[in-house]
Amino acid sequence: MTVTVRFAPSPTGRLHVGNARAAVLNWLFARQSGGRFVLRLDDTDRERSTEDFARGIETDLAWLDLNHDLFVRQSDRFALYTEAAERLKEAGRLYPAYETADELDRRRLRQRARGQPPVYDRAALSLTNEDRARLEGEGRKPHWRFKLNQTPVTWRDLVRGDVAIDTATLSDPVLIREDGQFLYTLPSVVDDIDLAITHVIRGEDHVVNTAAQIEILEALGGARPVFAHYPMIVGADGEKLSKRLGSLSLESLREDGIDPMAVNSLLAKIGTSDPVEPRRTLAELAADFAFEKIGHAPARLDPDDLKRLSTRLLHLKPFAEVAPALAALGVGGGEPFWLAVHDNLATLDQALDWWRIVAEPLDPAISGDPVLLAAGQLLPEGELAETSWQPWTKAIAAATGLKGRDLFHPLRLALTGREQGPEMKKLLPLIGRERVLARLRGQRA
Ligand code: GLU
Repeated sequence: MTVTVRFAPSPTGRLHVGNARAAVLNWLFARQSGGRFVLRLDDTDRERSTEDFARGIETDLAWLDLNHDLFVRQSDRFALYTEAAERLKEAGRLYPAYETADELDRRRLRQRARGQPPVYDRAALSLTNEDRARLEGEGRKPHWRFKLNQTPVTWRDLVRGDVAIDTATLSDPVLIREDGQFLYTLPSVVDDIDLAITHVIRGEDHVVNTAAQIEILEALGGARPVFAHYPMIVGADGEKLSKRLGSLSLESLREDGIDPMAVNSLLAKIGTSDPVEPRRTLAELAADFAFEKIGHAPARLDPDDLKRLSTRLLHLKPFAEVAPALAALGVGGGEPFWLAVHDNLATLDQALDWWRIVAEPLDPAISGDPVLLAAGQLLPEGELAETSWQPWTKAIAAATGLKGRDLFHPLRLALTGREQGPEMKKLLPLIGRERVLARLRGQRA
């Protein structure tokens, strides 16, 4: 049996860190198991699904490097759903109901007032043929409900352990709207059967759906997949993520220069027993993926974690990987420059600021300091190297009697114009002898 999983977003919006987590976890499990990852667009909602959102989802997944083995759209597969619906009708599991939304609302209010659960009372099941003919004669069109078995449905969830949901506590789910449109439930089950999905990995907001879906699946004679429902991501203060989804859309993270592996690292590890750490490759993340590591409490997300991970990933990047991007920014200096500055960058663009500091004329930020005078006189002969810094500053200290900040601060300020930054010993050779001497004299150089 080949592990086959699916990521099934609806193209009714952009992906954000909340729903992208399903993509990451499914993908990692597929990769780890040598299995297949299906991208399925749940686009049965014709009013809300758009081509733009569909393309956006593909762009976002490509950015995360989560490639798929198969791509399907539910809108191409209506024939399958119709056929399944017919079978359910024949088996007496799909029945027409004629209540309007208003009527159902009123009924629910009455049930609540009597302290009863707002479960559909199955009034439609007692309609006679004449009743139906009369209702249709009045111009009503039926919606179609799946008749639940009203028994406990149990499964062993890879995250939650043993789960039991009594479908007597649920309303018979509407599978087909009165305009003939399939709602999410039936197509999802039909596709899971047809595409031989072995594991359904999704958020715990689907746990109740799962009970009904298992019944539908069994009514259609399908083999049960294994289910894994992970807890939702919430904000740092426990509130639902939906409030800040704008800033946490993959599109906006990409625009903010966040490294896609920061997103993958976070989504793979958040809410698990592993630390959230920057990982450079999906293969590493796949290697230590395990359902048992996923906790039972909501996963708390601090959006600044993404920035921190992204920055740490930048520091870990070998020169060869960033060389094209540095060249595109107009940054020179090759590997020595990268090694000098990488630990001080929050984003790659900042490399350009440091490149300008070492390679372009700099307005003096300080002049006339006695340290600078001594420094100019004591600069070692010949070409400067990383090893020049230590003997040089020792000599300046000996000549001036200064040490610590009194010694190093004026040097840094004169040579870089900044209070802080990369290690001076590494910058020194990059700035070069002529410029160093001129800057020590307080000249623009
Ligand atoms: N389209 C559904 C969603 O985005 C898919 C859920 C599932 O994985 O079955 O919530």
